[in-house]
Amino acid sequence: MDENKKKLVTILVPAYNEEEVLNMLYDRLQKLMDENEGYDFEVLLVNDGSKDKTFQIMQELREKDKRVCYLNLSRNYGKETAMIAGLDYCKGDCVVIIDADLQDPPELIPEMLKYWEEGYDDVYAKRKSRDGETWLKKFTSKMYYKVLQAFTRIEIQKDTGDFRLLDRRCIEALKSIRETQRYTKGLFSWIGYNKKEILYARDPRAAGQTKWNYRNLINLSIDGITSFTTSPLRWAALLGVLVSLVGFIYMIFIIIKTIATGVDVPGYASTMVVILFLGGIQLIFLGVIGEYLGRAFNETKHRPLYFIDRYNEEKETNRDLNK
Ligand code: UDP
Ligand code: MG
Repeated sequence: MDENKKKLVTILVPAYNEEEVLNMLYDRLQKLMDENEGYDFEVLLVNDGSKDKTFQIMQELREKDKRVCYLNLSRNYGKETAMIAGLDYCKGDCVVIIDADLQDPPELIPEMLKYWEEGYDDVYAKRKSRDGETWLKKFTSKMYYKVLQAFTRIEIQKDTGDFRLLDRRCIEALKSIRETQRYTKGLFSWIGYNKKEILYARDPRAAGQTKWNYRNLINLSIDGITSFTTSPLRWAALLGVLVSLVGFIYMIFIIIKTIATGVDVPGYASTMVVILFLGGIQLIFLGVIGEYLGRAFNETKHRPLYFIDRYNEEKETNRDLNK
């Protein structure tokens, strides 16, 4: 590589209705970019179909500073998709994914770059603390990691968001995965490569509202499990074997009892219990099978992950890479 050429670092920011924080974010990033002269920077703002002035602010920022690029998606696709769109369009030798709301301090980036230079491909920031989040969110997130980890073989990093630095080869790896129901947190682990953890204190949101609600989180958590493991299906089969074994033993018992003592009319309660219990289990596992079938259905449609409205000043149609 040319010695004099500086490496390009892309800072990727997915943003949905973030008008209140974008300028603040830019100020912090600008300071960071000016202080780290050893690198060239590109700030890639991905507007995930915001309904407020987010896009307008992005355009203003680009007018001021050409290091800022923006990508305007055709509608709101969710953060996971906004991130892959950003990865598709990022030009850097590495990328740092950061939330728009300043919960991830940009001041950590130089430390990430240092480890990157040492040869790590994926430098992820793990939260020491989660100020400004409710105990319910902390608790559910902790339980969820436990369940997910119990189900999957790949190791998923605890208390780690999407705030991380990825080398170009991780970017290419992630780009090659074109699943529509993406669970990026798992994909980061799944692709492997050299990982390095750094600790940080997660700040409260600078302004604005969190975009997550419990419905989103539940959907994301189900995606997390179904996209990385089919073990719920195996559990269903195992439980089925167990229940039918018990049923079989009970059947023998009833047959013998009937032969020995004659027809026994009362039995309503036990019949109901068995019917309800088995019915319940069957419905649950039909649901589980349905989840997987649904995923298969969605993936076989091979739809593009997103559509682009604008990349910088240009009106865009999707590029080839967005197969
Ligand atoms: N985000 C997005 N699309 C969405 C929802 C969120 O691009 O549909 C972005 C949002 O703008 C922010 C990041 O994802 O930059 C994290 O969202 P948020 O801060 O609301 O989540 P939390 O930090 O509460 O988990
Ligand atoms: Mg946030």
